[in-house]
Amino acid sequence: MSEIPLSCPDITEADIQAVTSVLRSGRLSIGPCQEKFEQLVAERAGRTHGVAVSSGTTGLHLVLLSLGVGPGDEVITTPFSFVASANCILMAGAKPVFVDIDPVSLNLDPTKLEAAITDKTKAILAVEVFGNPKHMDRIAQIAGAHEIPLIEDSCEGLGGMHKGRPIGSFGRAAVFGFYPNKQITTGEGGMIVTDDDRLADLCRSMRNQGRPVDAHTGDASKAGAWLAHERMGYNYRMSEIAAALGCAQMQRLDRFLQARRNVAGIYMRRLMDFDDLILPNVQPGTEEDMSWFVFVVRLSDQYGHTERDRIITGMRRHEIGASNYFPCIHLQPFYRELYGHKKGDFPVSESISERTIALPFFNHMDDTQNELVCHTLKVMIQREQLLKR
Ligand SMILES: *Cc1c(COP(=O)(O)O)cnc(C)c1O
Repeated sequence: MSEIPLSCPDITEADIQAVTSVLRSGRLSIGPCQEKFEQLVAERAGRTHGVAVSSGTTGLHLVLLSLGVGPGDEVITTPFSFVASANCILMAGAKPVFVDIDPVSLNLDPTKLEAAITDKTKAILAVEVFGNPKHMDRIAQIAGAHEIPLIEDSCEGLGGMHKGRPIGSFGRAAVFGFYPNKQITTGEGGMIVTDDDRLADLCRSMRNQGRPVDAHTGDASKAGAWLAHERMGYNYRMSEIAAALGCAQMQRLDRFLQARRNVAGIYMRRLMDFDDLILPNVQPGTEEDMSWFVFVVRLSDQYGHTERDRIITGMRRHEIGASNYFPCIHLQPFYRELYGHKKGDFPVSESISERTIALPFFNHMDDTQNELVCHTLKVMIQREQLLKR
């Protein structure tokens, strides 16, 4: 029996052709594919600018820098996310200030947000965790009322909607990620989207070693621009190879999202009646809005991480890729050391994070694989139920 992976990219002949045609063209960086990919993603997010970058993390870093976030500043964010959404704040030299999450959506709890705002708050960085956009409108409202820019870490939410607005359209800027487990992939890659011309140009310059934005156009009046560096910059560019793959993947985004919705629906139906299991909470009537990134269930609260970890180990022993999405960021060793965080600081995030199990989830997951995962999960949970007696 072969392994059922936690995630798996959807690569077809069209993707392979897109990549090989770039290789044949000889133009491997800063070319037409990047521009096209930027337009496709920006359009999908309802934004005027797309700035392709080397990863979601580097995109978030540039957005923070372009907003002037630096040492002495605070940025409010969630402890229940992939570590990059807080690390980018450290990369900018600022301090991540965590706010606990809403136990239903698993996103930043808007009712706890205002209490964390201080004179030093330079931005709010909110995440659509697992592709769920809930509260993004309220968070944007609160940010607006305090005149603090909202940055959307939309790395898990490409293609989702919330109250008629696309994920990626709520913040001053938003960032998507294209690592192979995301809704679409470029191998490695990310995309900043915004309506702010100045912010977009700053990010374009900083991703390209601080060069003037039009340094590569070959305009005679800009002779020498390639070695002119207007500001501190980085090499956070996306290659044409990656961008070509991104364009080919974007053509199929709607099919991908539908396939993921179907797999999620099958999981929901199969797991609905399991004792001791909490399923993802998707608001009735908004199933169409969620952009399914992963399928994460959790044990009910009479269980802890010991039982959860045993279940994950047991599933892996049966060649089923399960994982503990996400360990709390504030409890990672270097965050504890930097800011003295300890257990109990963010009780909702901690309690949920100890009981989550991410199940295998990918576009072409078939019904037999799904049944095998659910059956194995059930056996592992029943084993824990017996051990508890
Ligand atoms: C994937 C992801 C990122 C970016 O990851 P990269 O590997 O740098 O592309 C950032 N934030 C969240 C919440 C993510 O899931």
